Amino acid sequence: MKCWDFTKCGREGGGAKAAELGVCPAWPDHGTSCAKVAGTHCGGQVQGSFAQKIDSCSSCDFYRITQVTQHSQLLSQKLVEQCPISIIGVNRRGMITMFNPAAELLLGRDRSEVLGQLDITLMYISADEARKIKKLLHSPEHGGPGRLDGLEVAVRAVQGRPIPIKLWAFILFEDGVEVGSVGFFHDLREEKKAQESQIMKEKLQSILDMAGAVLHHLAQPLQVLVSDANLLLQEVPQDAPTRESVEAIVDSVNTMKGLLEKIGKVSSTATTNYAGNTNILDFDNASAHYLKPKPEE
Ligand code: SF4
Repeated sequence: MKCWDFTKCGREGGGAKAAELGVCPAWPDHGTSCAKVAGTHCGGQVQGSFAQKIDSCSSCDFYRITQVTQHSQLLSQKLVEQCPISIIGVNRRGMITMFNPAAELLLGRDRSEVLGQLDITLMYISADEARKIKKLLHSPEHGGPGRLDGLEVAVRAVQGRPIPIKLWAFILFEDGVEVGSVGFFHDLREEKKAQESQIMKEKLQSILDMAGAVLHHLAQPLQVLVSDANLLLQEVPQDAPTRESVEAIVDSVNTMKGLLEKIGKVSSTATTNYAGNTNILDFDNASAHYLKPKPEE
């Protein structure tokens, strides 16, 4: 609304009092910023500069309303610009009309190539995914008709890679008519990475716990096996036909002992290829770590 519409002063071009009292210098370009225009005709008198008339402007309802409105618009604009969460707005047809800096960063696209040119469908990983999200936005699920509350989906960066996000969105209405929607896209990559790392840690801990249990139960019988095999070897003459077999037993038992000692030092799940598509733990390349000895039963 312009000041002459609000005050009905009649001093705008073609206004009721323009011919008689003159056209106000606020006309035609400063209808919402008349306070900054020197020599306006408010109150039936020619006003001075901004500094001279600020007191009377401060008591003007129109000035107060426009100040609040402009300040609120400025805040909204700054919030969108500074918000660390990506905000994308679309018109009723899905054309992108708002694309804040966080969205530029997330999707690797410059807003000048997006605003008024690209459809929101292109931001998702497929047309089917975009259709599904639109349907959900109008359905009673995930927050009720007209909104989405924290739906996990994926968007596609300009480089083509999918990015997991959490989406909040709502439909915009004006006079009861749908005019568009706004979506808030929260990047989930760091959270997903942390979750995967936690799962890996838990898996590793399970393996280490199992290895600790195996060590505990095998240590004593293996020690007996090692000493008995070595005693047996001492008793078998060099030329005895069984000498070779006993030596093989001693070698095997020592290999088992060495292997168990390596298991006791494993702290990572490094694997090595074994028999085609199978991977097994690579004890030689796993990082050294001391397994806490299990308490004696
Ligand atoms: S500045 Fe005052 S006098 Fe001039 S057009 Fe606006 S309301 Fe009317």
